[in-house]
Amino acid sequence: MDPFDYNSTERDTLPRNMIENSMFEEEPDVVDLARDSAAYPTFPALDPDETVYEPRSSRLLVRGLGENDVDDDEEDCGSSARLLGMSFMNRSAAQRSNASPYVRQPLPRSCSPPSARTMVVCVLFLVIVASMTMVFYFLPRCNFTKMGCPKQENKTSNGTDGTGELFPWAQYQLPRSIRPLSYDLTFTPDFSTMDFSGHTVIDMFVLHNTKRIVLHSANLNITKATFKLGDGEASDITILEDKPREQIAVKFSEELKAGQHCVLTLDYTASLSHTYDGFYNSSYTDQDGNKRVLAATQFEPLYARKAFPCFDEPSFKATFLVKLNRKPEYLTLSNMPQAQTTQLASGLVQDEFAKTSVNMSTYLVAFVVGNFTSVSRNVSDTLVSVYSVPEKKEHTHYALDTASKLLEFYNDFFEISYPLQKLDLVAVPDFMAGAMENWGLITFRETALLVGGHSSLLEKQQVASIIAHELAHQWFGNLVTMSWWSDLWLNEGFATYMEFTSLQTVLPQLDMGNLFLANRFRALDKDALNSSHAVSTQVNTPEQVHEMFDSVSYLKGASILLMLNTSLPGDQQFRKGIIQYLKQFAGLNTDTDDLWNSLTEVEVSSQHPNVSEMMRSWTSQKGFPLVTVSRKGDAVSLKQEIFQLMSDNASHSSSLWNIPMTYVNDSCSLGPECKQLFMLNAQSGTLKVSATVKWLKLNYRNTGFYIVDYGDEGWAALTDAMTNNFQVLTQEDRASLIHNIFALSKLGRVSFRQVLSLLNYMPNETESSPVKEALLHLTDIYKMLDKRYEQGLVTRMKAYILKYFGALMDKQTWTKEEDFSKQDFRSALLETACHLGQEKCQQQAKAMFKQYVASNGTSQIPGDLQRAVFTVAAQSSEDWETLLTMYHYATYDSEKLKMLKGLASTQDTQKIVWLLNTGLNGNMVQVQNLPLVIRTICESFAGNLIAWDFIQENWKQLIQTFPIGSFSFQSIIGSATSRFSEQSHLNQVQCFFDSQREHGSQLRSVQEALETIRLNQRWMERNLPSLDKWL
Ligand SMILES: [Zn+2]
Repeated sequence: MDPFDYNSTERDTLPRNMIENSMFEEEPDVVDLARDSAAYPTFPALDPDETVYEPRSSRLLVRGLGENDVDDDEEDCGSSARLLGMSFMNRSAAQRSNASPYVRQPLPRSCSPPSARTMVVCVLFLVIVASMTMVFYFLPRCNFTKMGCPKQENKTSNGTDGTGELFPWAQYQLPRSIRPLSYDLTFTPDFSTMDFSGHTVIDMFVLHNTKRIVLHSANLNITKATFKLGDGEASDITILEDKPREQIAVKFSEELKAGQHCVLTLDYTASLSHTYDGFYNSSYTDQDGNKRVLAATQFEPLYARKAFPCFDEPSFKATFLVKLNRKPEYLTLSNMPQAQTTQLASGLVQDEFAKTSVNMSTYLVAFVVGNFTSVSRNVSDTLVSVYSVPEKKEHTHYALDTASKLLEFYNDFFEISYPLQKLDLVAVPDFMAGAMENWGLITFRETALLVGGHSSLLEKQQVASIIAHELAHQWFGNLVTMSWWSDLWLNEGFATYMEFTSLQTVLPQLDMGNLFLANRFRALDKDALNSSHAVSTQVNTPEQVHEMFDSVSYLKGASILLMLNTSLPGDQQFRKGIIQYLKQFAGLNTDTDDLWNSLTEVEVSSQHPNVSEMMRSWTSQKGFPLVTVSRKGDAVSLKQEIFQLMSDNASHSSSLWNIPMTYVNDSCSLGPECKQLFMLNAQSGTLKVSATVKWLKLNYRNTGFYIVDYGDEGWAALTDAMTNNFQVLTQEDRASLIHNIFALSKLGRVSFRQVLSLLNYMPNETESSPVKEALLHLTDIYKMLDKRYEQGLVTRMKAYILKYFGALMDKQTWTKEEDFSKQDFRSALLETACHLGQEKCQQQAKAMFKQYVASNGTSQIPGDLQRAVFTVAAQSSEDWETLLTMYHYATYDSEKLKMLKGLASTQDTQKIVWLLNTGLNGNMVQVQNLPLVIRTICESFAGNLIAWDFIQENWKQLIQTFPIGSFSFQSIIGSATSRFSEQSHLNQVQCFFDSQREHGSQLRSVQEALETIRLNQRWMERNLPSLDKWL
């Protein structure tokens, strides 16, 4: 269990709206025990035979086989997992009998050396694979034509079809000669066959003379295609297809001339997607136990092409008219209000939606077919509605209130009214992303939108922030859209920034400031890696596009906007700039420079640096500066260099940022009036302070995106100041010092002893940000030590944490708490306390769970404590079964998620394997929650090894479900590898991804995983010998 992934840290590293599910492990509503009058029926005990998944090392773990039980033949690249398994066996044995010392396995230099027999088998296998590969490589691919699939297929992406025709385009991005103006789309989904048919009419304009039209289409079986030029007759045409690039094309013998209009009409059939993208089907069980089917869409970033042929790039904006044919019992929704409904001869009903009143990108088109009910309210000229499945209607009111307030706020703030007549927010029972900002029809996971009557403020904070983020997108992203995915941050960084800005005004009781602060720390942590990238980065392939949905685009993007805003004179400067930007580019596409230019134009102060110049230094290069401070009397020298945890052999000596440095000192350190600004535009600079100043704190409230090293003297002065009276600094500054010193320790700039000295004041701390930041890093080290089986140090670290935080933990109450910051503070402390096995905490949690089960639904566990309670309960076999039964019957996703997290925290290997399998097959655990299950399981020593094995064994199925590079994909790899710190682990991870070729080592998430292991390894090498005496 990582007690910090709930509220402020792990969750904060994750984008809230897109392609990410794992942070939605929020507080459940209280389980309705009364609903099931017979209390909990005993859920059938796990049958070992049902545990189908048995990877090699886990077989060792689960069945306790000895080393000899593994056949030599299994000893290949993948089987180095076995070494990890054997470590575990040794450890388990050691735990069973204290007399049995742990014997470390010799670390392999690389993948396990194969036996002679394996070598022969491998060579034979490789020869066969190579031959097959060559055969398949030279076999031309199948191309769709009007005549069906010819015997000969295309050779390459721009190969030929059966008649020798070349596919006329060989790039991922489409040619610019044709522009779509409007789409007329008809869909007829069939829930009995899980197929749909489509009819697409695209009205286009020729921008440049051309002999081809190239657009996107993926997995669509086109049955009829016609083309009409100007006022001419429509005629049948042949469609060429390039499947790998998901493109189709029409070639013409005569050039289409610039200025001409033309119409392409396509009929096609396709399967409803069984993953979470495109036009996908989904089902859920209603309160009467009936299976209900629905279909929904998720098109960002590259999936509109799976639902209809289109120019599927953000810069091809057009209007859309959507028609949906449905059975009478279903309801349909789309971006626009319904215009008319027609009874069709087939017995189906056709819902036609108004043509979009705005030009929009394909990734924002959306529709839903299912059984939903709604609550609505008029806000200005917009009808705001929140939709859910009928039995969850009562949980929609909070979302309606919040969305209404936020819509009013944004209408005022941007001085541009929301342009559509309606705004629907829909809770989709099965949804991979947290939420998706489709214009006028925002789709959400149920946990991201629905709030029960007993929900805690922590849950409300999560729902409100996701709504605030998606609503901000209606301007940033929908109205003004990035030209290409390279500048995704213009959408995501802004929406993330606005999420905090808007809620601080609209719902100040949700205390968004601390959440944003923790987000900035996590963004720095990520950006300190070589595997990071510039905020604005050229991308091309689908994998690269997916990888842009990461914390750099979201959190660093938001962080640098905050830095800019706080360094501009006056509080309206920034706002004026973005209003100008939105007005100037409404309905259009932009790149990063457009934004900076707009902000530069409204500049009034001549003292302030040019915004474009300053901000380009933050968006065009990866990483961020480390500012080193040294002081002689009244002169304070500042020197900047790149903060890079591990050198990447590239010279970054030219990396330079325009840093708006802020600082306070001991004579005035709390209020905003104390803040002073110094622009550091060169490698070094000097500022003057009074010689009587005892200490300086730079980066006031950590609003700047940089880390400061104060040098030994500076750190000692700040440590003294904190020890004497920690309240001389704001809580943001205290957390900032803690974050920075841990980062510097990783870099080797300060010793771990200095870190611990700074933390000496902790027993007196009263605010959650500094406590959570300290606990995050300490428990991280604790978990790494645990995974290395450094049992002596694990015990010492545990004792250290309980010594310095124990008094705070003991002070926390277990009764209902109304104040947000108190909830935040105690949940962080108690989750850690219970995780570390603090007796008082565990007893309280057990008693609370017992009372909860016995009360049959009449007693409640406060929302902020549920995770601690469920996690403790799950450690007992009996209570785990009870929790599983509760999970099975819980109706609301939010309830279920916290129970699931509890279930996944079990140390029982058999249960772990069962959960992973269940999540993969989507039986009792929804597939959308598998990344969360994996992440939770990876918290434990055994769980980490089993999960890593599981990922390797099921890799193919995983990457079919979670697109390569997507946030879920990044989360799965990160969870499984981020706490490895030994050479054997590194070898194994490297070996596995090397074997995945194009889906392996060159992916950013894989590079990040490898780099993280190396950094962990280095930290351990540097600090292990001394930890003993420091702790
Ligand atoms: Zn977003």
